[in-house]
Amino acid sequence: MIPAASPALQPAPAGAGTRDAIGWKRLWREAVRDPRELLALLGLEGRVPGLSDAAAAQFPLRVPRGFVARMRPGDPHDPLLRQVLPLDEEMRPVPGFTLDAVGDAAARAGHGVIHKYRGRALLVATGSCAVHCRYCFRRHFPYAEETAAAGGWREAVAAIRMDASIHEVILSGGDPLSLATPKLAELAELLRDLPQLRRLRIHTRLPVVLPERVDDEFEAWLRSLPWPVAVVVHANHAFEFDASVDAAMARLRGTGASVLNQAVLLRGVNDSVDALADLSERSFAAGVLPYYLHQLDRVAGAAHFEVPDARALELHAALVARLSGYLVPRLVREVAGDASKRAL
Ligand SMILES: *Cc1c(COP(=O)(O)O)cnc(C)c1O
Ligand code: SF4
Repeated sequence: MIPAASPALQPAPAGAGTRDAIGWKRLWREAVRDPRELLALLGLEGRVPGLSDAAAAQFPLRVPRGFVARMRPGDPHDPLLRQVLPLDEEMRPVPGFTLDAVGDAAARAGHGVIHKYRGRALLVATGSCAVHCRYCFRRHFPYAEETAAAGGWREAVAAIRMDASIHEVILSGGDPLSLATPKLAELAELLRDLPQLRRLRIHTRLPVVLPERVDDEFEAWLRSLPWPVAVVVHANHAFEFDASVDAAMARLRGTGASVLNQAVLLRGVNDSVDALADLSERSFAAGVLPYYLHQLDRVAGAAHFEVPDARALELHAALVARLSGYLVPRLVREVAGDASKRAL
């Protein structure tokens, strides 16, 4: 909740680190959660048909104010707004769009561990996210129960330890950067006990949606890790970048981490050659290399975001023809049971 008193007058929460650590937590709490407030902030009150209370009840709206500030006022089709606004279309059942579209339930190898691909395992560090993306394949996944939080981490790390082939742990969620840095440090301490670990990867949207999260304390923690680190961020549109995001990416890169972007191909958000080319070029300007362009996971509630495969391939071919090779993301789809993401 938004604190009633001026935040500057509030005592630091117990265990808070530096001043800017207090900053991101406050920004987190102050996120917009009311769809009508969001529309009012953008001058769109009553101008967006299909706003849905039922969709918001199923998966609540949540968007940090700094991300709202990057939306274009007065534009109901703004590509950032479309990613977060609960709409009627989400409540329409569409055949083929299901609750567990990527087979997470079947692939669980331990408490909060998802092991699908050789050499790497995904650790669900927390179920929370700073932003709620309407197309997210996790919107129905019961992460409240499945999170490898607190005591569960020990169990998760023990499960990974049993498999000497796992050389890379991927901190995922939810968004692992939702956790305060001392919590991440606790988790990293447990991971140090894994002799087979060669790399650490962090999948996070926070450097994009709440760039203040990349503060002094977090930066120092990243630097302290004994493994090479890859940070895979998630931006779908060039407009998601601004000076604050550039600064966060520069900080991440300054630690020596490799920084990559994964995007989801989304109808009405980035399904044009211009939008995708701009995204790659803007990412690179921020020091971030394109990694994946995901075909949408067919999760219930997200059908209206789907781009047909033929169109996806056409867009990708146009990107190849337009951009430097290293600016072209791999177009992939996640198929339950596959040994890796599948190239289209
Ligand atoms: C996507 C994913 C990974 C990572 O795959 P890469 O191709 O290495 O990026 C790992 N584990 C799970 C369960 C995944 O869904
Ligand atoms: S930040 Fe990632 S995990 Fe969280 S809702 Fe968005 S896409 Fe899903």
